Formats: sequence, C-alpha cells, structure tokens
Amino acid sequence: MNEQQAQSIQDCIFCKIASGEMPADIVSSNTHTIAFRDINPQAPTHVLVIPRTHIEHAADVEPGHAEIIIEMLTTAREVAASEGILAKGYRLVFNVGDDAGNLVPHLHLHVIGGRTMSWPPG
Ligand code: AMP
Ligand code: ZN
Repeated sequence: MNEQQAQSIQDCIFCKIASGEMPADIVSSNTHTIAFRDINPQAPTHVLVIPRTHIEHAADVEPGHAEIIIEMLTTAREVAASEGILAKGYRLVFNVGDDAGNLVPHLHLHVIGGRTMSWPPG
C-alpha cells in the first residue's frame, strides 16, 4: 500500500462509520460487517451493508474475502427480514466505478425495498 492509498483509507467515511468515529443509523452489527440506513434513501427501506475492513469496491474482491462477502449477503437477508420486506422482495446493488454512479470508495451493498421497482435501472 502506498502513502496515498493509506491516506484515502484514513479519510474513508465508511471506515469511520465502521469504527464508530462517525455517527450512522446502524440497523445491524456483525463480526465482519455493519449495516446502516442510507442518508439519502431511494425507497422506504434503503440500507447499506459494509465490511468493517476497507475494500474499495466489488472489483477488488478476492477469494480471501469469502467470509466477509458471505456475511454481507446473510446480513442483507437479516435486514430484509427485520424491515419486513423479505417475502415481497428487494433489490441488492453493488455500484462499481463512474458509469454506475459509484460515489463512496468503500465496498457497500445497497439493500433497497418497500416499493415496486422498475427494470432496467436508470
Ligand atoms: P454509491 O453511489 O453506490 O457509492 O452509494 C453511496 C451511498 O452512500 C449513497 O446512496 C449515499 O446516499 C450514501 N451515503 C453517503 N454518505 C453517507 C453517510 N454518511 N451515511 C449514510 N449513507 C451515506
Ligand atoms: Zn473504508
């Protein structure tokens, strides 16, 4: 890791939420992941599931991250259940890069639900 990468992790807002340095509306806290409400919700339920450790985005995921990624998905299901949307369905989204509108460079899984959604996404 070079100095610039180390600095960007130090400045990462989602690392700060994971460490408790920055406040968030946390809905679930597990071994490798936490889940909190998106500050700009796009649906009645809009929760972000993030790894506690800094991974920039889904394209950086490696086999060694398997346990973390599985926990992200099981946490998403738990969130859907506690939000009461498990039966009706919900959308899971990883944005990667500029064309997808990826803004925060710390891996996060959007859990979106509570309304019907269109496809394809905009
Ligand atoms: P993405 O476009 O996939 O990078 O999504 C980043 C998401 O993070 C957006 O939906 C933002 O509304 C959300 N977000 C940014 N800062 C915060 C924050 N401090 N707390 C909660 N959600 C945030
Ligand atoms: Zn981070």
